Amino acid sequence: MEKRTSANVLLDTALKNFYGAAEEMGLSDDLVKILAQSEKKLEVSLPVEMDDGSVRVFQGYRVQHFSAVGPSKGGVRFHPDVDGDECEALAMLMTWKCSLAGIPYGGGKGGISCNPDSLSQKEKERLCRTFAARISPVIGTWQDIPAPDVNTGGQEMVWFMDTISKLHGQLEPGLFTGKPISYWGSQGRTAATGYAAATCGLELLKVLGKDPKDVRVAVEGFGNVGSYAALTMANAGAKVVAISNRSGVYHAPQGLDIKKAFAEAEANPRERLKGFTCEGCEKVDDILSVDCDLLFPCALEGVVNEKTADRIKAKGIVEGANGPVTPEADAILGEKGVIVVPDFLANSGGVIGSYFEWAQNLSGYFWTEEEYNERLIHIMKGNFKRVWDYSQSRKVNMRWAAFMAAIQRVADVVKLRGVFL
Ligand code: GLU
Repeated sequence: MEKRTSANVLLDTALKNFYGAAEEMGLSDDLVKILAQSEKKLEVSLPVEMDDGSVRVFQGYRVQHFSAVGPSKGGVRFHPDVDGDECEALAMLMTWKCSLAGIPYGGGKGGISCNPDSLSQKEKERLCRTFAARISPVIGTWQDIPAPDVNTGGQEMVWFMDTISKLHGQLEPGLFTGKPISYWGSQGRTAATGYAAATCGLELLKVLGKDPKDVRVAVEGFGNVGSYAALTMANAGAKVVAISNRSGVYHAPQGLDIKKAFAEAEANPRERLKGFTCEGCEKVDDILSVDCDLLFPCALEGVVNEKTADRIKAKGIVEGANGPVTPEADAILGEKGVIVVPDFLANSGGVIGSYFEWAQNLSGYFWTEEEYNERLIHIMKGNFKRVWDYSQSRKVNMRWAAFMAAIQRVADVVKLRGVFL
């Protein structure tokens, strides 16, 4: 069978991982051929009137990888590097993430190629509404449900949802997830991804027989995922020795005041840690080389690669971001005995939280934060155990185990439904 490759690193990695896991589990050639492609790829141009009266045309994307299990689900990101291939790779990852999580969705992803920092609030609103209108034919509560991703959040979801609701002539809150609590959002959703990633870290410590109190943690990226992961680990008793973001690396071997860093980032959402003064901090350039036990890469993809993997001192990595460890780095880390909890398990708290929000939107009945967190932790612990046990019994690393478990569920559904999907 001819294998698909791509010049885009992220898509090529997604395909390589998929082919590798498919071979390992003996997936039929027919299914491999189907799942190596995306069901639907939409590219739209987005003319936007700027505040000075000029017009700029942006490019937007929405990709649906595979929807046999249920409607497509996945974020919309704003970043200058966004393109169709990147969205396709991330949509494929969402198929595995939703499948592994045991929630009734297929994978989707979208985005706009733009630098959101250079846009005013009004320009952003016009861009969001134009994007929503252009992708509306493929979006629906039972068709494709987008959510926040890199550089998007509750405000953008409201503009998207409001625009498509208007086009449909009625309010449809379940069209988008990740909305603010005051407008059809859910208690718990903001913290869900970081909280769930930290749960994976704590479950990993449990199976390794380690007490969180004896563990040093480093968190790369202090956005929504990293900040809640750091806070949850600190609350569990771990010593968070390093955090980082665009403003630099903050390293204190005796442990950082995470509550203070968290409050600083909340108070200044644009710059996050810029005003953070850290007592006893040492200046270092690279968070990956920091001496620690658990590392949470929670920013963009590819930071742990063949050039940086050797510097890692941590014994465990929990991938809070999507694709932070490349396959080359995976091989190096495997030889060093570093355990990697893969992204589509570790950061699945976000989409599981989205599923909770969608379920609440469909029923029109809201849960308490306690109910939300209890259900989230229950699901995360079960999923971690399933992947860990599978990796131990099959003698494969956690990434392969997660892939195989995820692909198997999709294969089971295709067996029930047939190829005409
Ligand atoms: N953007 C998040 C992810 O990559 C959340 C997606 C969602 O909630 O649909 O998992």
